Amino acid sequence: MAIEIKSLEQLKSMRKAGLVVADTLKLIKESAQVGMTTVELDEMAATNLVKHGATSSFLGYHGFPAVICASVNEEVVHGIPNKRKLISGDLLSIDFGAIIDGWHGDAAISIGLGEVEAADQKLMDVCEESMWRGIAAGKNGAKLTDISEAIQRYIDSQGKYGILREYGGHGIGSAMHQEPHILNFGPAGNGPDLVAGMALAIEPMITRGSEKTKVLSDEWTVVSQDSSKGAHFEHSYAIAPDGKVFVLTAVDGGKAELGRLGVEISTLL
Ligand code: MG
Repeated sequence: MAIEIKSLEQLKSMRKAGLVVADTLKLIKESAQVGMTTVELDEMAATNLVKHGATSSFLGYHGFPAVICASVNEEVVHGIPNKRKLISGDLLSIDFGAIIDGWHGDAAISIGLGEVEAADQKLMDVCEESMWRGIAAGKNGAKLTDISEAIQRYIDSQGKYGILREYGGHGIGSAMHQEPHILNFGPAGNGPDLVAGMALAIEPMITRGSEKTKVLSDEWTVVSQDSSKGAHFEHSYAIAPDGKVFVLTAVDGGKAELGRLGVEISTLL
């Protein structure tokens, strides 16, 4: 299937959805604390969607029962919110998607609750930075797997981490999950050319141990087989008509983080 190419107007709608995602994840990051449950965070996110006149990308997706994925500790991705109270030292990953005028935004963050182990903090930092390295590599004219290689190269340079094999990034636009699938590992130089009008969600998922995972009996929650803790960061970005990138789900469009990596963002969005 062809990769969906968006007009500037369509990317502007995606930016609106992206800002709802950014605002909601910020709200969750500021609100999440020891003693709360992930169901409470899900309700907060659902209320914020309504406030912005947006709908959920996740609720009802293949039957998913919530507006956020909430994955704690050895749960790496796709956790279902539940009523277990969060405790100090928990590592919580929240994935969230919003729709405005039929256009999707999708992003994820990992956060530590209470007293966070140094190794868990590093896991999160490595995961987040690998996402920025991936986006920075996904410039106009690059090959798709230039992103994959940049993500893996950074993670591998930071220590021994498991990079999930069965899950990866994806195209995004008039649907949450579109072509192409984007691996978080492997050599550069393969796959389609990246061109203006593409929008991609970049989402490294890593653990402190093995890359091997299994899905729990709830048919959603992905846990590490060795029970090592996982982290997950995600942003949706576009290549604007001027050939420059723009991070749709970052409030500043990625200006600060990509600027640090020597990548100038588009001013069209
Ligand atoms: Mg995604």
